[in-house]
Amino acid sequence: MKFCSDCGAPVEERIPADDNRLRHVCAGCGVVHYVNPKAVVGCLVEHEDGLLLCRRAIEPKPGLWTVPAGYLEVDESAASGAVRETLEEACARVEVVAPYAHFDLPHIGQHYVLFRARMLTPDYGVGPESSEVRVFGLDELPWDEFAFPVMNVALELYREDRRTSRPRVHHGVLRWSGIGSRYDRRNYELEGHMGLFVDERD
Ligand SMILES: [Zn+2]
Repeated sequence: MKFCSDCGAPVEERIPADDNRLRHVCAGCGVVHYVNPKAVVGCLVEHEDGLLLCRRAIEPKPGLWTVPAGYLEVDESAASGAVRETLEEACARVEVVAPYAHFDLPHIGQHYVLFRARMLTPDYGVGPESSEVRVFGLDELPWDEFAFPVMNVALELYREDRRTSRPRVHHGVLRWSGIGSRYDRRNYELEGHMGLFVDERD
């Protein structure tokens, strides 16, 4: 941020009084522009015993696969945002079945909220941000071609849950080692993982 969105004056980086972090502070009106983590919301769409995945057509990481997901908008709930992203990226109308995972990614100021979802009709297609959309069986997931390591982590846990037929909801911090590519799963650990079993009889 270079200029104040309130008054247009230049913004400087400094630690305000009674604070302990560098902030964007307006040199004109003095307002502090806080930068806080963003929420990314998405769906694990369960279909024909597999998952619906999108091959990205846009930066970052075009050509690689992801579950339908994107930034949460103001005025949306996390679940409705995840449903919207699925419609936009995979042209699929879905309903949320259950919460699935919450992952913090502190090194990039994001947190992911993922849901399990099912298709309301068996139709899907290629949205403008995708180049291909298809259902992958759990034994053929493209592990080496996921756009973001958070997808590897989410789907590793999902595959394990399906293998044991014991669904869980997950929480954890996806901690980057600080060395090597931020796009390489091997440079991450899932810290403080909690996987709570879900009773689906309700
Ligand atoms: Zn200002």
